[in-house]
Amino acid sequence: MPLIFPASPRSRYVAIFAAALVSLAASAVPAVAQSYSTAKLADGFDYPVGKPDGAGYYIFRGFSPNGHLGEDWNGSGGGDSDEGDPVYSIAHGVVVFSEDYKKGWGNVVIVRHAYREQNGQIAFVDSLYGHLKVRSVSPGQQITRGQIVGTIGCGPYRMYAAHLHFEIRKDLRVGMTRELYPRSYETYHVPKQFMDLRRSLRFEDRTVRVPINTFRRSNPNRMTTDEVEIPQLTTTGATVRPVLPEELGVIIEEETQAEKATPEKSKSLFDAIIEKLSNPQ
Ligand SMILES: [Zn+2]
Repeated sequence: MPLIFPASPRSRYVAIFAAALVSLAASAVPAVAQSYSTAKLADGFDYPVGKPDGAGYYIFRGFSPNGHLGEDWNGSGGGDSDEGDPVYSIAHGVVVFSEDYKKGWGNVVIVRHAYREQNGQIAFVDSLYGHLKVRSVSPGQQITRGQIVGTIGCGPYRMYAAHLHFEIRKDLRVGMTRELYPRSYETYHVPKQFMDLRRSLRFEDRTVRVPINTFRRSNPNRMTTDEVEIPQLTTTGATVRPVLPEELGVIIEEETQAEKATPEKSKSLFDAIIEKLSNPQ
């Protein structure tokens, strides 16, 4: 006996099938490689917990080269009393990683920040927030200083007492492949020292280009697979490292020069008002 679908459900199946085909076709189109995003220039760096000054928290374990490559921030209440406490982005930036990485990491968020060094040059750093209970931002998202990126957790399978593992990297290629890079000051900042030197930076109403897609894909445990592309790889001795986009130097140069081209963006609101008052038009 021939199988006959009633007309209306059948046409519904056809429609669903057609829609599936269309979405399949769309996802098969290769994404245009994007090598940079944008972020607001940082106007200062706060601590990642106890916003903005770290009130109620302390560094349980500090940074050591070739050892602990970040700082462990704990609530002064002890134990797991800080579990679920908010974790904040230390500055304006763009989210470049947000995943449950499992292994010894659990939920990890990495935010990339653009800021101006004392010599006037634009620079970039990555801040990493690890062992989170939850993540509340996603890759590509532009976020502001003090915005919540997640909450303090105990790592995967509750393997630690609750704390925030926090790193600041100068090398934008590190991502989750720390083993490929020197475990030294060449690659990392001492987080608290870095923030203390830049708690307050001159305000500029400026958005700058930020290189992205600089991490190597490597985790077999990754939960999501759609947010990064594989950077070019280069072999130096025994290590294989992704190459930063060639234009990084160009971006730094151009964004640094932009200050001279658009001085009005470097003025404080107060300066702008005074100028307006003294030049009524
Ligand atoms: Zn740690």
